[in-house]
Amino acid sequence: MQGSCSCKSVQYEVSELATPIIHCSCESCRKAHSAAFNTGAGVEPEHFTWLKGEDNLSSYESSPGKHRYFCKTCGSQVISKKEGAPLHILRVATLDDDPGVVPQFRIWKSEEVSWLDYKGDMPEYDEWHPEH
Ligand SMILES: [Zn+2]
Repeated sequence: MQGSCSCKSVQYEVSELATPIIHCSCESCRKAHSAAFNTGAGVEPEHFTWLKGEDNLSSYESSPGKHRYFCKTCGSQVISKKEGAPLHILRVATLDDDPGVVPQFRIWKSEEVSWLDYKGDMPEYDEWHPEH
């Protein structure tokens, strides 16, 4: 699968996802993505390759050790990395190809905005999923 930022300066390839796709409603994701929630999935670093524009990325440390990488030109969030964590977190909405699976649950409901209305369509957790 390939993906890219909004302006196509940054392009990548990912061979497979390592975790379910999840929606995260934490305040940090909401602010970083300017959206009610961020849709992410873990990927093994060896399954992820920058095709173009790695030098056009900037990053922001949104919490200690957590670095969010985005395109310097258009601002699209592409991946995040947490120091010591084995997986990169791919911003699934930047994929240009269909990952072939659908989101499985929502996390950080405790920081969700009050105006989001999607109740009842998948499991949700006040903070992290107990396993993922
Ligand atoms: Zn861009």
